[in-house]
Amino acid sequence: MPKFHARRAVILGCAAAALAVAGETIAAPLAIAPAPGIRLQAYNTYGSLRRQTVAIPAPTTFSIPVEIPAGARLIGGLAVPDRVWKKSVVEEANPVRFRVRFRSGEETIALYDRTIDIRGRADDRRWFDFGRDLTALAGRRGELEFETTAVGDAPTSPLALWTVPELARCPEAGPSLLLVTLDAMRADHQSGTGYARATTPHLDAFAADATRFTAAYAAAPKTIPSIPQTLTGRYFPAHGPVAALAPLLGPGRFGRRRAIINNPHVRRWLDAQEPGFDVRTAGELDAHAITSEALRFLSAAGRCRTALYLHYLEPHTPYRPPARYARRFIDLAKPTTLGLTFGDVTAAWQGRYGPADRQRIVDLYDGTIAFVDRQLGRLFRGLARRGRLDDTIVIITADHGEEFWEHGQFFHGQSLFDELLHVPLIVRLPRTGRARVIDDVVSTVDVIPTILDAAGHPPATTDGLSLVPAVTGATTHDDARIVFATVSDAEPRTPFRHAARSARTKLIRHIRDGALATYDLTNDPDERQPDATPPDARELRSVLDAVRLRIAGTGYQVRLDSRSTQATSYVLTIDGRAPAAAGDTNGPSPPVKLLDVDRLTLEASDTVLVGSGATSLTIRGQLQPGEDDHLRFDIPRTTGALRIALTLDEAPAPPGTLRVGATTHADGAPIDLASSGLDELPVRQPASADAPPVTVSLWRVPIVRGAAVPPPPSPEEEARLRALGYLD
Ligand SMILES: [Zn+2]
Repeated sequence: MPKFHARRAVILGCAAAALAVAGETIAAPLAIAPAPGIRLQAYNTYGSLRRQTVAIPAPTTFSIPVEIPAGARLIGGLAVPDRVWKKSVVEEANPVRFRVRFRSGEETIALYDRTIDIRGRADDRRWFDFGRDLTALAGRRGELEFETTAVGDAPTSPLALWTVPELARCPEAGPSLLLVTLDAMRADHQSGTGYARATTPHLDAFAADATRFTAAYAAAPKTIPSIPQTLTGRYFPAHGPVAALAPLLGPGRFGRRRAIINNPHVRRWLDAQEPGFDVRTAGELDAHAITSEALRFLSAAGRCRTALYLHYLEPHTPYRPPARYARRFIDLAKPTTLGLTFGDVTAAWQGRYGPADRQRIVDLYDGTIAFVDRQLGRLFRGLARRGRLDDTIVIITADHGEEFWEHGQFFHGQSLFDELLHVPLIVRLPRTGRARVIDDVVSTVDVIPTILDAAGHPPATTDGLSLVPAVTGATTHDDARIVFATVSDAEPRTPFRHAARSARTKLIRHIRDGALATYDLTNDPDERQPDATPPDARELRSVLDAVRLRIAGTGYQVRLDSRSTQATSYVLTIDGRAPAAAGDTNGPSPPVKLLDVDRLTLEASDTVLVGSGATSLTIRGQLQPGEDDHLRFDIPRTTGALRIALTLDEAPAPPGTLRVGATTHADGAPIDLASSGLDELPVRQPASADAPPVTVSLWRVPIVRGAAVPPPPSPEEEARLRALGYLD
């Protein structure tokens, strides 16, 4: 048990704390339970930098018993908040002294001492970080004592914040990791790969000492599911359990693991990963704030091995860089209706902006790139100054690009053209720093296999390939690679288009109507002619179909069998918002999502529509005599109910049409997903005079369980997503 004791007037009780050593390498953040006067909470001070803290009034001291592991480092942070309950407290705040000591018997060793004066020094209104090497104390038992005292005569006790302290064990053998994803960064807007504007001088300078992949493609044209695919190395939809982050970058692999994120989608996905990073810092952090936070983390980590994942929102909308970057590429001689910022995605979608405005939008996008590039330069310099460049795997990439009306649309998320999939990818491995440019096709699903390979970890089951041999020059040119991407509508795991791409050819298959577009990229790099016949189109098509077929034999299967002697038109609706199944006393079940829909045997003239929120499917088709129509979908859980409705030649289907597993199902009744009948294979009914002309069978084959799905966004998160252009 830790001891909390007050000096002077503050009376405190006891609180439970535990020092947990997770895996081989790190001590998890110290767990401190709430106690009177002590609040463990996520604080939101100084801009939007959110950190988990122990909030205590000064004067207060708390102690945590420890046995110091070999090679340990104590890492913590502190602050005096300038606001309490949204009200400024700067004027009444006396200085606060923060001290950390190690006590063992009669011996006391001072570890840290800083006085913060938010009234006297404006620069003190922020987080401070510290790291202390405890190697000399290895094996000793004692207490870590955290003391705050108010300096001077405070009328009230100033509030003091300690970030939840961590004990890291280091140094360790093996490299550190710095993985950076830029949001909505197009590959062809980097000056170093031929863009006419000087957008990325710092990235280019870094690439001069690294390997630049000039043909890297994201697996999706929007943040989710692109980032999950990058961080798990698995394409969506995947056969078998959906991959998770933990086994790849999890505890025991990279020492301290920190994610600093500016994008609510990424933050929500990471929060659903257990265990994810040791510490996640998220909020409205611009590129300068993310870099500053990253450099503070590296300073505190000292020589500790670390994994640092940074997601910069820039150059995503709103394009709102500091003014000098906003002005950098603007032609003031050309008047537009726009100023020095742009975030009006909805109006851009509605076609409000003409050519001059559109040019201004691109100018501001490029200015935003120049801003984040400058911050990357700071990051690289900071890494080098700390002597970490040569023991760190550095990977810089993006989650997707941005469309500027090349195919009639703006923003991202809606198509699979190269303006949305072609992303930067720069890899620098420890002690292999030299300029290399690789033009072979690669994918962002290669990032994780590359990290594992470079760090000496065993390979994981992924859909990607390690790029280490390419970086080290161990392999020669490979032009046979085919990479994949999907685009989804309401739900990331419900793709409605699948793409396959080689160096020469791109195919895009539409799930809704089965249409296939084929582009000859050698003669048509802008993807204007969808009816090309490049030489490898046939091979690519069978590969694309094979990738889709990996999921074909899993999940919920729906088959319509015709016994009629004439063609029958039908409309089949599968509704995941069915009422509770009979006997379910828990009230209506939550809506069921229908994911990873695929048209297995449907004709090109048949259509599949996924309803809003992916809670319903409508299939319109024509069944020829003796034919069957077959599709499949997934449901990420086994509770809830579905309802199926069918019309044949515009009339309700006759009784006895629907079969669940091997048995006939009552018309209109909800189908309980917990029913074991779903696991029985359907039997084709022999033709007979009283059999209905068409039967619909629903069954499931080994179900694909979804990964953890984040909860719906809060109203604040929705407001933020709207500000970023994600919601109308
Ligand atoms: Zn994004």
